[in-house]
Amino acid sequence: MKSRLTPLHAVLLLGLASATAHAAADEKLKAAAEQEKAPLIETLHDMVMIESGSSDVEGLAKMADFTEARLKALGATTRRQKTTAGAGADIVVGTFTGTGTRKLMLIAHMDTVYQRGILATEPYHVDGTKIFGPGIADDKGGIAVVLHALKILKDTGWRDYATLTVSLNPDEEVGSIGSGEFISELADQHDVVLSCEPTASSPPAQNDSLLLGASGTATGIMKVKGRASHVGAAPERGRNALIELSHQLLQTQDIAKSIPGTQLSWTTAKAGTVRNQIPEDAEAGADIRLTVSDGVAKLKAALDEKVKNKLVPDTETTVTIVPGRPPFVASDRGRALAQEGQAIYAEIDRKLDIAEMTGGATDAGYANRSGKAVVVESFGLAGFGYHARDEFIDTNSIVPRLYLMTRTLIEQGKKK
Ligand SMILES: [Zn+2]
Repeated sequence: MKSRLTPLHAVLLLGLASATAHAAADEKLKAAAEQEKAPLIETLHDMVMIESGSSDVEGLAKMADFTEARLKALGATTRRQKTTAGAGADIVVGTFTGTGTRKLMLIAHMDTVYQRGILATEPYHVDGTKIFGPGIADDKGGIAVVLHALKILKDTGWRDYATLTVSLNPDEEVGSIGSGEFISELADQHDVVLSCEPTASSPPAQNDSLLLGASGTATGIMKVKGRASHVGAAPERGRNALIELSHQLLQTQDIAKSIPGTQLSWTTAKAGTVRNQIPEDAEAGADIRLTVSDGVAKLKAALDEKVKNKLVPDTETTVTIVPGRPPFVASDRGRALAQEGQAIYAEIDRKLDIAEMTGGATDAGYANRSGKAVVVESFGLAGFGYHARDEFIDTNSIVPRLYLMTRTLIEQGKKK
């Protein structure tokens, strides 16, 4: 039965609202997050002890076994999917079927940037509120948040979703070359994707954060076709591809400066095969960074236009751009979700920052590529030293992050 709001109730509620600037915490959930802190640390320890660099197929198989078993224990139906390129490891997918209407997805990655043997020089160790270990923040902390948030929600009996999918890939640190398309396609079948890369610890960051943008990558290739000829006997019959390439590189080197959100640097080149022949082929490669989704198309159009201006007649210059990880640019709906995250943090008297853009690329770019799902990044633990030595997580972030993840999932499940 619906309860009626009497004028007295309304006055009381108004009084309550003005006395506290934010909603009250869900005390049960908060207590459960506190309960789950020690088990989460244990899980972190177990995962850090499994070395799983992006090329370490054996270590990645162990990580897949570990996470798949944990997802099964939480009630998921699991499957493995081979990556389509790269070292040839498995993506682990766990699916939960609920009683609600929305389709929710969580993503994190199992690989680290470290080579086999790293634990010998960078062992797992605890120092106060810091726990050190290779990959502990990026991204084993993210996986731990997923596993333990789902444990908390399982214990409360929460099933207010149509499906809840967990996707853990083994090649994020090498550009998700064999899992990116899979993540894109799977994300498109969902309403919401929460990506679980780490947030920065304090210091240097003042507060935990959620992230709304990350740069994408692409590779530019310029090819010049000229005409070969004997350099001594008939140089005038040749069309020097190397000279033309040099001209094209010089006239396109600043091309990205007029296209906001793009960056292009020519970094490799090759031409000719022997000294005594006018080279007929020349090729250069460029590293491209993007923070806008239409950057590749705009750069391509600008380059195509520019290369029409030739120095060596009869040469043919073509440019191709091979997109890498797409940039992540959160939608307005993504921003709204992050703002709800701020309100959730406020319930437990913590401040949450919204970070607009990072130079490091993430799988949120793949999940967000079509714009179908609402995607927000950085639901993992707070840490520091990613891709460096002395990588650590801050144990003070465990409870707030579990609270944020569980509350966010509950709120997202409720939406129509
Ligand atoms: Zn990562």
